[in-house]
Amino acid sequence: MDSLEEVALAVHNCFDCPLHRGRNSAVPGEGNPDAQLMFIGEGPGYHEDRQGRPFVGPAGQLLEGLLASIGTNRDEVFIANMVKCRPPDNRDPEPAEIAACKKYLERQIELVNPKLIVTLGRFSLGRFFPGESVTRARGKARQKDGRIIFPVLHPAAALRRPELRKTLVEDFRAIAALLENGNDGENGNDGATLTPQPATIPAEPPAPQLDIFNPPEAPTPKPPAAPPTEPTESEPATSGNPPPEPPGSPTPSTPERPDGPQQLSLL
Ligand code: SF4
Repeated sequence: MDSLEEVALAVHNCFDCPLHRGRNSAVPGEGNPDAQLMFIGEGPGYHEDRQGRPFVGPAGQLLEGLLASIGTNRDEVFIANMVKCRPPDNRDPEPAEIAACKKYLERQIELVNPKLIVTLGRFSLGRFFPGESVTRARGKARQKDGRIIFPVLHPAAALRRPELRKTLVEDFRAIAALLENGNDGENGNDGATLTPQPATIPAEPPAPQLDIFNPPEAPTPKPPAAPPTEPTESEPATSGNPPPEPPGSPTPSTPERPDGPQQLSLL
């Protein structure tokens, strides 16, 4: 496998573990072949299996928002997974499946040769630091095999547990600092913790900070004013167009976001 394209081709034609049986599409990974920053997740989920692309479901939307928050995007980084085919019902990948798939990820790391590898969740953390807890390891840059490894929580965890979101945002700020000021990964012992200098990016962006977890709704045009009618008992006020607001009424609250895919962006 002399190129990322050859790795992807090999992945699509791979039958080396049982996960090939349930896949619609293998998900080799994608991004900038010369990326300084590489993300490694766990494995494809439903949306990824359908599209053949990594992190395109809700967790991917969150990842894109986090990337935007540090001034980058998925085209500038490389995104891969520990296993390239979706485990049934999104179960955890088995050790034998991770072992069978390891050759593809190893080659991707060699070919991209990133300055910084960010592990997303416990399985990719285990690739570099087996047996460690992601909640303890997260947020600390460390040396491993001449590279800088920076573990963070998996975005899906922050979707399930909103209290983890602040931690994830803070860790992404540290990623930006590492890229700008961090060690080149060639000095120091394996496992040594690196301490990046404070980022030259401001701790608080000068522009108004938008909430990437709750992006603003696109403005919806107001419906044309309906002729005033008297509500009746048999015609609930919630059916059809809303009744006209009396003068001085507060602005109605923004409706809840639909559950479908959201474009998370700071822009
Ligand atoms: S998960 Fe990896 S090893 Fe298993 S079939 Fe897919 S590409 Fe091959």
